[in-house]
Amino acid sequence: MKRRKFIKASSLSGAALLVASTANACQDKNQTEVKKDPEAKPSFPLAIATWNVERSVSTASEVLKKGGSALDAVVEGCKIEEADPKNITVGLGGLPDRDGNVTLDSCVMDNKGNCGSVVYLQNIVHPVEVARKVMEETPHVMLAGKGAEQFAYEMGFKKTDLLTEESKKAWEKWKVESKYDPIINIENHDTIGMIAIDNDGQLSGACTTSGLAYKMGGRVGDSPIIGFGLFVDNEIGGAVATGLGEEVVKTVGSFLIVELMRQGKSPQQACEEAIKRIVEKPNSNFKDFQVGYVATNKRGEIGYYSIHPNFSITIYRDGKVENLKSKSHISA
Ligand code: ASP
Repeated sequence: MKRRKFIKASSLSGAALLVASTANACQDKNQTEVKKDPEAKPSFPLAIATWNVERSVSTASEVLKKGGSALDAVVEGCKIEEADPKNITVGLGGLPDRDGNVTLDSCVMDNKGNCGSVVYLQNIVHPVEVARKVMEETPHVMLAGKGAEQFAYEMGFKKTDLLTEESKKAWEKWKVESKYDPIINIENHDTIGMIAIDNDGQLSGACTTSGLAYKMGGRVGDSPIIGFGLFVDNEIGGAVATGLGEEVVKTVGSFLIVELMRQGKSPQQACEEAIKRIVEKPNSNFKDFQVGYVATNKRGEIGYYSIHPNFSITIYRDGKVENLKSKSHISA
């Protein structure tokens, strides 16, 4: 009797599932239609990155052209922005937290599903390299704060004051009002996330940021957390996020995109669906913050989408590097 009840309940939930998936299919009509060509040749080597980071992507492309691995490409690419003191959202010269401390978040994930991450790292110019060392040299995935910094010194990284005169001035100006407000498209240049596919069709990704400007001390965003700011599945594809990390965390953004691709969505449809999850939440105040995603599937087909206009991506494909403006939920 009990078993019969169970079977009845299961078949009911099966019917409910069918209705739900039909409803999803209807919703999909609102998404960008992507024509699939099963004969299309896979397009790699490839590197894609959030924002207009031509130098980073060119550097990644040089690694790929020489037959280097996707992991080397994304790490070398991210390092370019980390070392640039003019980039106020990443590495050296990144804007500090509200107490004046520059704290960096970064992660990497390779084609075998290995990953490494550093959170709240201070005094080190290249958190992406430290994240890689965490992956390759320790039994752990994440190291935070003082422990991460200590590990970096043990690995030979040198101590550097990351607060530049410009960033210090900006922080001192901010302190006058001390008003925390996420800035949409800050200097058109937030978190740098990169995914690459090398000549052998292997995927890796990396992500690096100084996090939100004037955040609370101790705050960690999406960028160093696997599945949130970055996710790579070598069989399916990879995705990276930029923008208000708290919102990406609440929707497990990058993992969601990869799972949607696994279920058959194109990278573009998957990015749009992930943005939809954020903006369609009850009482979402999405007009006040930006989130942008970029993704590629295993074949090198790409997608990118954001909430607000003026998000862009940089891509290396077919031997050239270009910056592409993203479509957005709110139109320009
Ligand atoms: N996602 C980053 C964070 O929340 C910041 C950004 O990309 O703007 O820390």
